[in-house]
Amino acid sequence: MSVIYVDNNATTQVAPEVIEEMLPYFSEFYGNPSSMHSFGGQVGRKLIEARAYVAALIGATPEEIIFTSCGTESDSTAIWAAIRSYPDKKHIITSRVEHPAVKNLFEYLSKNGYRVTFVPVDRQGYLDLDYLYNNLSDDTAIVSIMWANNESGMIFPLEEISRAVKEHGAVFHTDAVQAVGKIPIDLKNIEIDMLSLSGHKFHGPKGIGALYVRKGTKFFPFLIGGHQENGRRGGTENVAPIIGLGKACQLAAALLKKDITRVKELRDKLENELLKRVPNALINGDHKNRLPNTTSIAFEYVEGESILLMMDEFGICASSGSACTSGSLEPSHVLRAMGVPFTAAHGSIRFSLSVYNTEEEIDFIIEKLPPIIERLREMSPFWKEQKSAS
Ligand code: PLP
Repeated sequence: MSVIYVDNNATTQVAPEVIEEMLPYFSEFYGNPSSMHSFGGQVGRKLIEARAYVAALIGATPEEIIFTSCGTESDSTAIWAAIRSYPDKKHIITSRVEHPAVKNLFEYLSKNGYRVTFVPVDRQGYLDLDYLYNNLSDDTAIVSIMWANNESGMIFPLEEISRAVKEHGAVFHTDAVQAVGKIPIDLKNIEIDMLSLSGHKFHGPKGIGALYVRKGTKFFPFLIGGHQENGRRGGTENVAPIIGLGKACQLAAALLKKDITRVKELRDKLENELLKRVPNALINGDHKNRLPNTTSIAFEYVEGESILLMMDEFGICASSGSACTSGSLEPSHVLRAMGVPFTAAHGSIRFSLSVYNTEEEIDFIIEKLPPIIERLREMSPFWKEQKSAS
């Protein structure tokens, strides 16, 4: 059975071009880029090239890029760097819908001497900007707001936020792990101090990320060790994945110009057809201002996990909006923060597409999913209750 993979916000297929670019650096060119000999030096030159591709994709300069092991490390590095650089400031701000890579660190800091403001979102997933602005003060060390949400796909107005953050002299960090490679980003036009990205979210390999640090931003390394990355991250460079990340950035730059419209068309077709064919189905998030590849659809009165299992029988891979913790299905913190009712949050499925999806695959999902929902609703006491009440 072939796989229909629409879970690209979880991870993506590594592009064949990326694999091809990386392979010689596992086998043939295995030198240490810091070595004095030319065997290592040629690897060092390839890293310079990769760094330039990463910088170019986001409108940065190569000196502003630090390679890390993943998006989570980039987030941690940025947040710790800001609070260590401004030890007298004891207030930090983030949103209620961040990925655990940011959320859990802010929760840890809230128990360890920091006053934390978690900015709420409304039913459509929009940030409460007044709440954010009213809480900003000169005691704020860092504001960390994601560029785009991994579940709803909502894109946040970072340009506007950055102006307010800068008025108070706080560090502005964004977790752009879901945005880089999917929408155009140009840091020349927006005052962001630090930005996190991760290779495996846009057809690069797993285990490689990068942190952009704007020139002039105070910095404190997370991994203190060797001189690598200009003393900003110790540890011998993860050479082949860095080269893979560079290639993925080069490919994404081209993709953003052409293929992203096709991905959006496929996403819109999937969404519109499912909403047309399945009663009591709704989008989590606003129709506008979303990542072009993402849709989170709530199928009311059914359980997301059951939908996933039944789709899995057809080889369809998506993800749900619940987390199975200690035997009980809790809707995700993102859907809860958006105020999505329990009956809808439980049946929420996230489809996230990529350039590798085809129209035939989307048609297959459109054909197979509605009968699955119908079958599950026949077994759902909540659906029957709702039907008899209406
Ligand atoms: N931030 C966001 C928004 C994400 O979606 C993810 C991964 O799902 C991460 C951070 C973590 O990235 P990584 O898996 O590279 O640590």
